[in-house]
Amino acid sequence: MISSAPITELMGSIKPAPISLLHARDLKYRDFLTVALIARSSHRFLDNWVYIHDPSVKVGRVQNFRSWSPELVPDEEMTCLGLEYFCFEGDGLWSAPDAELVELAKKEITKIGLVRSSDVVDACVVRQKKAYPVYDESYRQNVETVRRDLALNFPNLHLVGRNGMHKYNNQDHAMMTAMLTVRNILAGETLYDIWDVNEDAEYHESGTSGEIAALSSVRMTPRRAA
Ligand SMILES: Cc1cc2nc3c(=O)[nH]c(=O)nc-3n(C[C@H](O)[C@H](O)[C@H](O)COP(=O)(O)OP(=O)(O)OC[C@H]3O[C@@H](n4cnc5c(N)ncnc54)[C@H](O)[C@@H]3O)c2cc1C
Repeated sequence: MISSAPITELMGSIKPAPISLLHARDLKYRDFLTVALIARSSHRFLDNWVYIHDPSVKVGRVQNFRSWSPELVPDEEMTCLGLEYFCFEGDGLWSAPDAELVELAKKEITKIGLVRSSDVVDACVVRQKKAYPVYDESYRQNVETVRRDLALNFPNLHLVGRNGMHKYNNQDHAMMTAMLTVRNILAGETLYDIWDVNEDAEYHESGTSGEIAALSSVRMTPRRAA
């Protein structure tokens, strides 16, 4: 059995309760919401995203969807910016009504100077639970304890992915852990240690750390069509 569900939820669903359940429950997550603003805009910036360090606003990062791909924003006159707010499920930001979040985003995007509030024509709020596994002082020990428990008592249950391993994996790392797990299962032995993938948590666009040689040749990146 291969699981990419958050460790907390997986371990909480096993009956009878596994011995490492308290450690699994002690793992924490950071949640996240995006307010996408669609606006008329002649002024374009080219970055895919910008981090916002101004303490007078709550937004932490702005995604510029047209820079990811023009096909995401097919109307030439429009831009679509995703204002990202880091929060915890149930806190003030998370629980705020959508209309209030849209107003906040419009006010803040105007203050930052990327778009004027009066140019916003539509908006949408998306909430994402468990967006980030939290690396606090006890997470490493907690994950270690869960792994030992599984190895001993559930040897055919395999953890993969991001929250599945409580590891700050990017998409390619998450997929690689699953592919290597399948190879291990087919081989009937541990050919690859999937916990080595992304070991240095290096950013995916800047390095090759953690790549396992056997798979590095099959990682493909998109190319512009001719
Ligand atoms: C805001 C944000 C931006 C990101 N940007 C990038 C980026 O630019 N590039 C990049 O490479 N990566 C990025 N990532 C990381 C990337 O999204 C993850 O690494 C990747 O999606 C992890 O894949 P996964 O299969 O482990 O988990 P997921 O994609 O989260 O899949 C887990 C699946 O398990 C399901 N599930 C959960 N609980 C249960 C349950 N109890 N029972 C059954 N099913 C369950 C979920 O519904 C989900 O479908 C970003 C992540 C976030 C949050």
